[in-house]
Amino acid sequence: MTILAFPETKVGLTGRKGLIVGIANDQSIAWGCAKAFRALGAELAVTYLNDCAKGFVEPLARELDALIFMPLDVSVEGQTEQVFERIEKEWGQLDILLHSIAFSPKEALHGRVIDVGRDGFLKTLEISCWSFMRMAHLAEPLMKNGGTMFTMTYYGSRMVVENYNVMGVAKAALEAAVRYIAAEVGPKGIRVHAISPGPLATRAASGIPEFDELLDKAQSKAPARSLVSIDDVGAATAFLALDGAKLITGGVTYIDGGYHIID
Ligand code: NAD
Repeated sequence: MTILAFPETKVGLTGRKGLIVGIANDQSIAWGCAKAFRALGAELAVTYLNDCAKGFVEPLARELDALIFMPLDVSVEGQTEQVFERIEKEWGQLDILLHSIAFSPKEALHGRVIDVGRDGFLKTLEISCWSFMRMAHLAEPLMKNGGTMFTMTYYGSRMVVENYNVMGVAKAALEAAVRYIAAEVGPKGIRVHAISPGPLATRAASGIPEFDELLDKAQSKAPARSLVSIDDVGAATAFLALDGAKLITGGVTYIDGGYHIID
């Protein structure tokens, strides 16, 4: 008897179409994920923030053979819709959505949560949480054969991490959005995941004061005694996009060497 525990469709993403939002440079978590999706055969669309970012992202998009390469600043009215319209026109479907963006104005991020003003709070939640909800809304009708939606979160959503401040509030909202949306779209075969990597020295992380201390603590306390790389995050994220992971949804997947279980 031959047991086909891993037929080809369960370990590959050939023929799947994925949208990657959040590559700034070759340190970005989104780049680690995109490489893994591509290595498994997915065809990818890539966005870049604006003209300043374009030069850094373009060579990476080329490496991914991304034929759809578009600007996307989620705070610009209509730009998110334009990306999904293009995908509908060119592909007629979408199988993977990767949302890997976050932003908080300095004055909001660097202060106590209790002191955050309305504008800083709304901007943080708009870019870091609502943009995912909007993308999920636009992706749903394109995920005609089911699909997988991903967003990036962090441990500071459920524990008080020094200097993470209002971003922890945004990530808590994001994780709740993942649960609700997973319940809403699950009957259509669409899975929704929050991926929670350990700290990584990226551009976004450079906005968090004393980030090096966070790295040291993560390395010394995590059961694996190791920091994670963007390739570690990519491999685990790509696994969740495989057919073999089709009944995993709605949760927070920690890719942190086990740090989250330690006191
Ligand atoms: P990064 O700087 O490489 O990526 C952040 C991305 O957000 C950039 O591509 C930037 O262009 C994009 N962005 C910011 N504002 C935007 C807007 N208005 N419209 C569209 N895009 C916008 O940093 P990263 O660490 O790869 O961050 C990716 C995600 O991972 C974020 O959600 C972050 O909170 C999360 N995360 C990071 C860490 C870490 O330690 N680096 C840990 C856990 C989770």
